[in-house]
Amino acid sequence: MNTIEKKYLLPETIYEASRFAMENQEDFTFISGGTDVWVNAFQGTQKKSCIIDLSKINELKGIEIQGDFLRIGSAEILEELKNNDLIKVHFPLLIEAALSVGSPLIRKTATIGGNILCENRCLYFNQSEWWRESVGYCLKCDGDICIATGGKNACFSELVSDTAPALITLNAKIEYVYNNQVVKVDLEEIYTGDGVYPRNLPKEAILLAIYLPLTKKINSSFFKLRERESMEFTSLTFAATTDQNGNLKIALSGVDPKPVVYSGSLNDDSEQILKKLVKAARSVDNDMYSRVYRKEMIKVYLERALKELK
Ligand SMILES: Cc1cc2nc3c(=O)[nH]c(=O)nc-3n(C[C@H](O)[C@H](O)[C@H](O)COP(=O)(O)OP(=O)(O)OC[C@H]3O[C@@H](n4cnc5c(N)ncnc54)[C@H](O)[C@@H]3O)c2cc1C
Repeated sequence: MNTIEKKYLLPETIYEASRFAMENQEDFTFISGGTDVWVNAFQGTQKKSCIIDLSKINELKGIEIQGDFLRIGSAEILEELKNNDLIKVHFPLLIEAALSVGSPLIRKTATIGGNILCENRCLYFNQSEWWRESVGYCLKCDGDICIATGGKNACFSELVSDTAPALITLNAKIEYVYNNQVVKVDLEEIYTGDGVYPRNLPKEAILLAIYLPLTKKINSSFFKLRERESMEFTSLTFAATTDQNGNLKIALSGVDPKPVVYSGSLNDDSEQILKKLVKAARSVDNDMYSRVYRKEMIKVYLERALKELK
């Protein structure tokens, strides 16, 4: 049984949050909704002793048009995105993805920022302390090898965010503050593909907002493979968009430590698209569904998406 003793800090400004982060640099984590962090803390896979709760910072909230972009504050709650007229009109795909996360109770607390930064998952990692000890600790929890692959020296824990693939197909950028500098990068760029360290953001970086370009006409498709629709992490999330110029963008989660992305045209040969997606998805048997089945489902979802989009 884990004894959880935490220092809990509740800043009211970004400046204060950054200061707390610097003061506790060695051993802290941010939380927004906490629906990912607290579960991992209770399971013993998240051991930081200082929690900096960003939920009281008003600067992280709000949805508004800024120039050619829709700016969504990182602390916006997933369940509430569906009530926003701007998102309803321009990005129904994001609503679909957000509403596929967890259950209604989780979505009423979970934030969009926390969702794109939620921890990668693996059957051999998301277990209790005694379970992980009894099978031998894996790479992601200070062990020597990846148990899912029978001993590889790389971690294949999966990115499970459902909104990340949707946002990537919408060409999202994220904005964060680090060391008093505001930085903007393509969302796609923050994922490393290494399951132990899945993102390349500095740990003191505070995610401020997500920016979506207001392209004129976007058609989209979204599918999620999961055991129960009522509440389940993804085994394969498939998002696809086309714009007015026939550009096609596809992004997957649940089959690799990072998003699997395809950019091309709606006229591309579907066999070639499939080949590229399946090759890029380094899925291993670390999920409730087998890797073979999940790869087959990429084909199924691709066919469905192209049918919807053409
Ligand atoms: C039963 C259950 C089912 C779930 N199902 C799904 C699912 O289907 N799909 C899915 O995607 N997720 C699922 N989740 C995981 C989680 O609920 C979601 O990913 C949620 O969106 C996380 O958001 P949060 O605000 O609660 O994140 P938190 O737990 O607060 O934080 C998650 C991560 O983001 C970081 N973070 C949060 N905000 C910021 C910020 N502003 N700046 C810097 N870092 C920040 C935290 O440090 C942490 O690393 C589920 C969780 C549970 C318990």
